Amino acid sequence: MATDVLVRTTEHCPSSSPNPVQSKGRLAPKHFRSVDWPTVHQAMKSLKPAEQRFITKHTVGMCGVGKFGKRWGLDSENRCPLCGLEEDHLHVPRCPSDRAKTQWQLLLQEVQEWFQSTTTATPIAQFLGALLRTIRTPAWCRMDG
Ligand SMILES: [Zn+2]
Repeated sequence: MATDVLVRTTEHCPSSSPNPVQSKGRLAPKHFRSVDWPTVHQAMKSLKPAEQRFITKHTVGMCGVGKFGKRWGLDSENRCPLCGLEEDHLHVPRCPSDRAKTQWQLLLQEVQEWFQSTTTATPIAQFLGALLRTIRTPAWCRMDG
């Protein structure tokens, strides 16, 4: 399944040669080598095959957004239903509509409350919270003001 593909990719591609993940420009070689692939493999193997496929597809942005709706023939055009801009996986958390902004803030609050209700270590919860807050406004946007 998805994990097997990932393992084949990492085991049979020396770090100096291109592999499918790197050749599509989704992960720079320096970042590819810094991933703890055995841990990723172990985590993926703990999931059901359907969950492995879900994670793998969402990791590369393949999900039920306008881009793939059009590609798969489910929609006639690739447009966000809230703002009308083209919709890919990155547009969803970054949609400029007021409704999306409000929903994003509510979800961030719910995630923080969930972290507090579980045994998530505080440093991990703080890191993930900070990471999630950067998704809507990536660094290159913040630098432009
Ligand atoms: Zn939008």
